[in-house]
Amino acid sequence: MKKIFALLLFIAARGFSATVDIVIKNGTVLTMAGPNIANGGVAIDQGAIVAVGDVSGYKGRTTIDATGDAVLPGFVNTHTHVAMVLFRGIADDRELMDWLQHFIFPAEAKNVTADFVTSGMRLGAAEMIQSGTTTFTDMYYFEDQVAEEAKRAGLRGVVGETLIDFPAPDNKTWDGAVSYIRTFVKKWQGDPMITPALAPHSPYLVSREHLQATRKLADELHAPILIHVSETRAELQQVAEKQSGLLPGLYLDSIGFLGHDVVAAHGVWLSPEEIRLFAQKGVGVAHCPESNMMLASGMAPVADMLRGGINVGLGTDGPAGSNNNLDMVEEMASAARLQKIKMMDPTALSARKVLEMATIGGARVLSLDKKIGTLEVGKRADIVIINLQQAKTQPVYAVESSIVYAASGSSVLTTICDGKILMRDRKVLTVDVPAAIAKAKQLRDQVEKSLQYHPGS
Ligand SMILES: [Zn+2]
Repeated sequence: MKKIFALLLFIAARGFSATVDIVIKNGTVLTMAGPNIANGGVAIDQGAIVAVGDVSGYKGRTTIDATGDAVLPGFVNTHTHVAMVLFRGIADDRELMDWLQHFIFPAEAKNVTADFVTSGMRLGAAEMIQSGTTTFTDMYYFEDQVAEEAKRAGLRGVVGETLIDFPAPDNKTWDGAVSYIRTFVKKWQGDPMITPALAPHSPYLVSREHLQATRKLADELHAPILIHVSETRAELQQVAEKQSGLLPGLYLDSIGFLGHDVVAAHGVWLSPEEIRLFAQKGVGVAHCPESNMMLASGMAPVADMLRGGINVGLGTDGPAGSNNNLDMVEEMASAARLQKIKMMDPTALSARKVLEMATIGGARVLSLDKKIGTLEVGKRADIVIINLQQAKTQPVYAVESSIVYAASGSSVLTTICDGKILMRDRKVLTVDVPAAIAKAKQLRDQVEKSLQYHPGS
């Protein structure tokens, strides 16, 4: 009798398959937490990863066959200004001051409204989903609209409302911006997809007093801080002139601003002393190689930062005049290639390393690494599937190389965020892409009319 019971149990166990929301199978799985898994899969239920590798015991309500494809964590963009997609190409190949004073500032003053930001975010969300980004980090105006639109598109966002020492499109005064932030943070804090943040522009466009006030506010609200730091040599000069010769990172430390909740974008000109300081204080860096090249800002010491123990992620920066897209696959290729040329060493930054930076590295920068960044049981299911069966990605010897150096954002087939399919087989499911594009074209004409100078003149 006992034997028969054991046999029945054995049969039951063998035949048992748990039904879950999604099963991805037959792919090359890059968990980014250990070795890659050939011919493996991921099982997803209620937004979380429930199995990685062998998923034969799971039956999906939706099944995705990833034969010949790579399955990996969704990309984490650690620095951008998404709504600026609507200014994409407005005035490229110009000096920074010409670009800012004749195009960006007037264009923003005359056009940036809550509706404009909604339209920009909608177009940008489509672009991010199409190129495999599942988490983005934004610094702009009307961030309440950015958060609303991100939720609608199903994206995860660290969403930072800008604080700057001149009248902004949404808040004309410092006090206005602070009160906006209080309401904004209270509204979004605790949301599973949105982390509200404070985004003082930079150590040269925000005064010492206001930077200190921002630090206090961040401590009080328990919200992270996003800021541009050490981007250009001009910034070093401006900060040094006003702050007794200090470098931007040292200056920020001297006023008690730095902490593990700070995400510093760029860090192009960080000194060895600042690298040690950032590592010690847990300041994360968002490396934006394409922006740094496009604006001729310089080459960030990424290899030194990583060796020094800083958490470094990748960012596209804004899509107007400094990139001009939100494609993280392209950003990875640029990061690897730029560091090789900076160090004159082809081993300086490998495909595997930039893939880490674009996933778990970025998650660490944003303090979201317990939740996302790798494919591990218990983490939220932020996953992309990349087509490696294209002419440009075949044959495959090393999957990381194929993704970073041969594929592109448009090789992303399927994008899943928090267990929700946002794009399947290149079809975006959460954004009306043709409508977003039509709106962008209409706004482009409005922006051009509003300019005193015209693109091409
Ligand atoms: Zn930026």
